[in-house]
Amino acid sequence: MSSSQQQRKLRQPIVVVLGHVDHGKTTLLDKIRGTTVALKEPGAITQHVGASVVPASVIEKLAEPLKKFLPRFKLIIPGLLFIDTPGHEVFSNLRRRGGSVADFAILVVDIMEGFQPQTYEAIEILRQRRVPFLVAANKIDRIPGWKPHPDQPFLISYRMQKPEVQQRLEELLWNIIGEMYKLGFRADRFDRIKDFTKTVAVVPVSAKTGEGIPELLAVLAGLTQQYLQKRLMYAEGPAKGVVLELREQPGLGVVADVIIYDGILRKGDIIVTGGLEGPVITRVRSLLMPKPLVEIRTAKRELESVDEVVAAAGVRIVAPELEKAVAGAPIFVARDEEEAKELAKKVMEEIEAIRIRTDKE
Ligand code: GDP
Repeated sequence: MSSSQQQRKLRQPIVVVLGHVDHGKTTLLDKIRGTTVALKEPGAITQHVGASVVPASVIEKLAEPLKKFLPRFKLIIPGLLFIDTPGHEVFSNLRRRGGSVADFAILVVDIMEGFQPQTYEAIEILRQRRVPFLVAANKIDRIPGWKPHPDQPFLISYRMQKPEVQQRLEELLWNIIGEMYKLGFRADRFDRIKDFTKTVAVVPVSAKTGEGIPELLAVLAGLTQQYLQKRLMYAEGPAKGVVLELREQPGLGVVADVIIYDGILRKGDIIVTGGLEGPVITRVRSLLMPKPLVEIRTAKRELESVDEVVAAAGVRIVAPELEKAVAGAPIFVARDEEEAKELAKKVMEEIEAIRIRTDKE
């Protein structure tokens, strides 16, 4: 099978970033986006609504200098989709029956501070939702004596540090590995792991200098495509997703920012979602996506109308009656009115299940 055929079969894994406040979640996401933009091939859309996609070509390019250290791997996923807003709250809205819409998580830990209350909380909710994760041991540039090598792989920068600096890094990593062990997880520096199904990878990074970002992306891509293939197998059927956020958009009323994790969503589709008052059955009036990047640093870009989106994707849906929906509700495409009614039942069951679970938590 050619790689392009395989690429069509698997969707991008959906990745969330969690961790204690100030440990660098936002900075890390900004760095990942910045790196992608700087390397991006012309025409590649990397920005979605509420999410950013790092294409496989970018990951492969960044991983090139790593060939000496890491076993060669060929990417069969089309890229990685990062949810733009880090933290527990958005993660909670990504529920899906029996787990999460997120396929994988990055737990950011400030290497100088180690585990903090929200680090433990994050691990607990990842465990509850059964979301696999790796640890980004962030802020390695703050280790006394660290000489930064901007945007270089960690393994290359590490070799150029003085022995006492390397030693200090190892000690700090051991604190993290020790905490993980206390929580019942085996963990190790990513390049020392033999069996990734038994050991949580710890990737030293600096969200500020960009050191370690190549490995972070390579390990994410490698792990997800190797161990989550079944989950990432994408069907060319009706879309399934979750409402990330509802917002009032002047002139359009209440619109829904959704994450599509399976199938295809088209303009005109019948969609079924839910609210506290009951199911919402409506029709997609338009689908909005950010315009392809022209200028690198424009944070808020204009949205444009598209005819369809393919999983995985973050997209804004314009449709009547969305003011009745709730964030965290499932959203499905129905083939006809009859199926819509069936799906409405399913949606409400899921909302009910979510409500019961939330009350218990
Ligand atoms: P969040 O609350 O987890 O999203 O943390 P932020 O991304 O807002 O970062 C908190 C602070 O740490 C900010 O002042 C960042 O500039 C700083 N910071 C984040 N990552 C790094 C890093 O790798 N190195 C250094 N030196 N500072 C960082």
